[in-house]
Amino acid sequence: MKKLDMLYEGKAKKVFKTDVEDVYIVDYKDDATAFNGLKKGTILGKGVVNNRMSNHLFRILEEEGVPTHYVEELNERETAVKKVEIVPLEVIIRNVSAGSFAKKLGIEEGRKLLCPTLEFSYKDDALGDPFINDYYALALGLATREEIDRITELVYKINEVLCKYFAECGIELIDFKVEFGRHHGQIILADEISPDTCRLWDINTHDKLDKDRFRRDLGNVEDAYQEVFKRLGL
Ligand code: UDP
Repeated sequence: MKKLDMLYEGKAKKVFKTDVEDVYIVDYKDDATAFNGLKKGTILGKGVVNNRMSNHLFRILEEEGVPTHYVEELNERETAVKKVEIVPLEVIIRNVSAGSFAKKLGIEEGRKLLCPTLEFSYKDDALGDPFINDYYALALGLATREEIDRITELVYKINEVLCKYFAECGIELIDFKVEFGRHHGQIILADEISPDTCRLWDINTHDKLDKDRFRRDLGNVEDAYQEVFKRLGL
């Protein structure tokens, strides 16, 4: 497969066209941002961890019946993926209170929720990805009812598979964000699943093993990414 022109450079990844129809290449960077781009930095080795970890999890999810954009890992930072039209929603599942949820509702971080919650944000950097619900998404034409229902079904399944898998690795999945795309009329999982997009706590000590170490200047950021990588057997 030949890598052609760059289509897009995002905060953590570059996307390239290829000579294969309907296939793109994503290239994971070590760049890190937080607070809607206000905080910038580098996490050495992050691109490798996120690429390989995301691919590993996408392969597991495929086996469990979740369709994804994954095609083939090309090297430690680059992966071939199916071309999709991204649904402009950040789809978040929370198992335990943390982050914006804890702050907004005045609940301590770490409280186990009675059931997993689902929330949507409208993917729009200029607006800071505002919280919306399914009625807003329908009213704005961001997705159809059928697409939202399918996304809901898939994200709960993803949560089930990932909670079980991470627990086997000594990690508690606190919350995570995923994105979906349209591919030949089908909704498939796209983007990435990594310590950038999940809150991952050590199951016993509750040590944070994710991007909160960068967001909150907790130190040992690189070590946390490497620790997750190691626990997943990668
Ligand atoms: N998240 C993400 N990208 C975003 C916002 C959130 O990947 O632009 C992830 C974040 O890592 C966490 C979950 O979504 O695992 C919930 O994030 P929250 O709403 O608590 O936002 P935060 O406190 O990170 O601003």
